[in-house]
Amino acid sequence: MKILSVNAGSSSLKFQLYEMPEEKVLISGVFERIGIDGSLYTIKIDGEKFRKVVPLPNHAEAFRLLTEELLERKIVDDLSEIQGVGHRIVQGADLYDKSIVIDEEVLKNIEDLSPLAPLHNPAHAVGIKAAMEAIPNALQVAVFDTSFHQTMKPSEYLYALPYEWYEDYKVRRYGFHGTSHKYVSMKMNEILERNDTKLITCHIGNGGSISAVLNGKCINTSMGFTPAAGLIMGSRAGDIDSTIIPYVMDKTGMSINDINNVLNKKSGVLAISGISSDFRDIEDAAIAGNERSILACEMYANRVVDYIAKYYVQLGGCDAIVFTAGVGENSPFMRKLIIDKLAVLGIKLDEEANNERGKINKISAEDSSSLVYVIPTDEEVMIARDVLSLL
Ligand code: ADP
Repeated sequence: MKILSVNAGSSSLKFQLYEMPEEKVLISGVFERIGIDGSLYTIKIDGEKFRKVVPLPNHAEAFRLLTEELLERKIVDDLSEIQGVGHRIVQGADLYDKSIVIDEEVLKNIEDLSPLAPLHNPAHAVGIKAAMEAIPNALQVAVFDTSFHQTMKPSEYLYALPYEWYEDYKVRRYGFHGTSHKYVSMKMNEILERNDTKLITCHIGNGGSISAVLNGKCINTSMGFTPAAGLIMGSRAGDIDSTIIPYVMDKTGMSINDINNVLNKKSGVLAISGISSDFRDIEDAAIAGNERSILACEMYANRVVDYIAKYYVQLGGCDAIVFTAGVGENSPFMRKLIIDKLAVLGIKLDEEANNERGKINKISAEDSSSLVYVIPTDEEVMIARDVLSLL
């Protein structure tokens, strides 16, 4: 059976088509710059990449081209072979603690949650409608970034703000990247061959979050009401003293929108390094001696360590720390910077293993008090699995 996994952003559409239950990827790709000049798409089949520059006025056109490619390349003989489409949805708030078949009510809820995820949910809704039109016979399923974190207790998800803000406006912590935290914690438990584990999962990429996972369930996570909270990220500030906002607005005359833009797009390691939001550039500059890049790396690692230490205490110890996503999977430099700061807990790196590239890798020393692993994340396959189980 074929299942399509979709991640629709405001100007992009990423997809992977699976043969399930084998979990074999038949084709994957991304449509970029939808609604913007210079739009294009890239597809990958059997390791070979194809790229086409085409006008993409909207997501519906992207889906039309996708289905055309599937038919022309004989990946399907008929679109009815695709029995399910799974959509990554950033914000499900407290409405969904698991994936769900999309009907009119679910679609409306996703749209209604847009004020809580203005950059993501409206684009997801557009993607869902385009998919329903392009592949009408398939079961459409919503897989929420927030579901895995719904097991947090009120003591963890509430802010110490007026209680009515929570009751009336849903102001609370939700957490994001849940599908990834769930995937790597499941993988880690498979490796440990047990589920009664204390895990700290570090999804650190351009965006980043850390979760405390007890016996397979999330008990805390670093992102909050929105993905702007917690770690320092590529261009997001993460945790700050909220009073800075009215203070700077008063000093500069900036609007709420201006400030929001700065917090999300002009802060993080980009602001500190003054060079780039991409960790590859910052690492190169830091290694070459650029002081602000060294500072950015130091601040970034310190914040990660703050959360690992906090969750170590909350979990009452830690069987394994897991690194995943862009930086977590690919940066021995940043992993070493982080793990070396955990020496007081008896956590030690195997430097040779840390420099190896590739798949799942144990990078802790034999005498380390906790295991440390690199586990490449796979949110797409998690989406396909959820669709399969709902089918
Ligand atoms: P997103 O949050 O956008 O999903 P990813 O998890 O794909 O991000 O991570 C992308 C980021 O990972 C890049 O911006 C880059 O900073 C970082 N990255 C990728 N490869 C490397 C590498 N070899 N060394 C250091 N950082 C890397």
